[in-house]
Amino acid sequence: MSVPAVKLNDGNRIPQLGYGVWRIDNDDTAAAVGEALKIGYRHIDTAAIYGNEEAVGKAIRESGIARGDIFLTTKLWNSEQGYDSTLKAFDASLEKLGTDYVDLYLIHWPMPSKDLFMETWRAFAQIKESGRAKSIGLSNFRTADLERILKESDVAPVINQIELHPQFQQDELRLFHGKHNIATEAWSPLGQGQILENETLKAIARAHGKSVAQVILRWHIETGNIVIPKSVTPARIRENFEIFDFQLNGTDHDAITELDRADGRIGRDPTTVA
Ligand code: NAD
Repeated sequence: MSVPAVKLNDGNRIPQLGYGVWRIDNDDTAAAVGEALKIGYRHIDTAAIYGNEEAVGKAIRESGIARGDIFLTTKLWNSEQGYDSTLKAFDASLEKLGTDYVDLYLIHWPMPSKDLFMETWRAFAQIKESGRAKSIGLSNFRTADLERILKESDVAPVINQIELHPQFQQDELRLFHGKHNIATEAWSPLGQGQILENETLKAIARAHGKSVAQVILRWHIETGNIVIPKSVTPARIRENFEIFDFQLNGTDHDAITELDRADGRIGRDPTTVA
């Protein structure tokens, strides 16, 4: 089973399915990431604030898989935004990960009220220039924030990682991303497990002989999103990887489109995170 890759606007490629490690303790992370790598995941999504970069780095080194075969993302935490502090925080992340480059570095939240993200982005451009982040991008940026980046910088973000799942489909942002060749990456792709009892999704899952989690992840893949589901349970980590042997049909897609809700957000709202 091979995971498709999405070509980014800087020419690099990202595996469309990855493994996210938010809320996994540093002590449990090495085993969980080791398991994911054994199953076949080659894309790991962490962040400085998750407190598990060391364990992610350890698992990658101990896996015996060549570093160049793994796509590794980390993110700059909010308190470190600003030019010099970003450069310092990036060094600290590389040190913890025990690697000399990441594949993707993201600004975790825009914090529009702090007005630091342009300065931060200039530091990101320098990090990319140095080759220590192969690609740079954003997370939780709203349309207005993206417009500013595109207008005031010569360096385009490759990706925006945002909350996105069947209950919160983010049509406006996805359209904007598409127009500007920015890839859409879905965080909490399974709605943090809160949408797995939905009757529509259950019916689709039954019809395909798949689980609800697999149907949701398949929907993301067919929609063009990059996904990073999280689980610490080996059977579920495997289940979430086994989504390339079936296809949803037009009726399934129409039914899932109907699940979108204006109040469907589960996580934090970027407008208020500071
Ligand atoms: P998710 O949507 O991936 O859901 C994870 C939860 O769903 C698990 O804890 C488990 O309870 C359940 N689950 C997973 N697989 C299952 C299966 N096969 N069957 C049944 N239940 C299953 O939620 P998430 O962890 O919030 O998001 C995934 C990743 O996205 C994170 O680990 C992190 O890497 C990233 N993320 C980024 C941001 C950001 O601000 N950039 C915010 C949140 C998450």
